[in-house]
Amino acid sequence: MLYQPRTKSQELTTLELLSKRKNLTSQEKQLYLNLEKGYEGEKLFDRYMEELLQSDCLILNDLLLQVNNTTFQIDSLIIAQGKTYLYEVKNHEGDYYYQSDKFFKKPNFEVVNPLHQLSRCESLFRQLLLKNGFNPPTHASVVFINPNFTLYGAPRDKPIIFPTQIEWYVNNLKAKNYKVTDRDMKIANKLMELHQADTPFSQLPHFEFEQLQKGIVCSECYSFSIVIEKSLYTCKHCHYKEKITNAILNAIRELQILFPDKKITTNLVYDWCKGIKSKKTISRMLNTHFKKVGEHRWTYYE
Ligand SMILES: [Zn+2]
Repeated sequence: MLYQPRTKSQELTTLELLSKRKNLTSQEKQLYLNLEKGYEGEKLFDRYMEELLQSDCLILNDLLLQVNNTTFQIDSLIIAQGKTYLYEVKNHEGDYYYQSDKFFKKPNFEVVNPLHQLSRCESLFRQLLLKNGFNPPTHASVVFINPNFTLYGAPRDKPIIFPTQIEWYVNNLKAKNYKVTDRDMKIANKLMELHQADTPFSQLPHFEFEQLQKGIVCSECYSFSIVIEKSLYTCKHCHYKEKITNAILNAIRELQILFPDKKITTNLVYDWCKGIKSKKTISRMLNTHFKKVGEHRWTYYE
């Protein structure tokens, strides 16, 4: 049973939107690629874990927790019959080697040792559980999910699951036929209660409204090349046709994600949706789909 589904992080969503509306710097591009790659790896891991959804265990994804003023993240956690399984998912691709407790990408580029990340995470997780009156056995593993990953000199005594082992591993877990106990539920509920929605270590770049390309885009392919005719638009790029109101609504949602502190007003949306001729269309839409706050020129929408 999927207790907490995985969603794209706010950081990744924001960068994805930014990349469409401004030229990212090389540093921003790198961050975007890293986050995207990580997310893809986690989604791939989830697809394997789907096998377990029918069975009786609790799956919690993307937990952000804190203990003793230290924040840590768990990519994936399974709670089943008094046991917890914790996974650090890595989407490394290509040839790596392991030497003197260190990880290198070939030929000789040192990367963070995922085993160190895992043991830090595991130790903090144990502390957190203990602090809340739980002491279940915890099995923690690093999962290398990418089928094109090779680790030369891999240690045999470390908790690593390789791409060639995942299917077997999941089937093995499934065969245990675990049952969810009341105590499992208690642990899951406690973790959800402690889970923090906002990541404190956001590395998002700073950007301003003025820097971004304005206009509404095709919902299908995100092209700015659209032709508006009456209440419909047609995309010149992919020929998709849709009600213009849908595209405006999407644009407003984008605005809310990119600028959560800005008040949504008719004028702001009008500027953002550059190309929509009538302000009346926009204010009508805002009145229909959002809650109006304030009056006259102080009006904004939530
Ligand atoms: Zn299109």
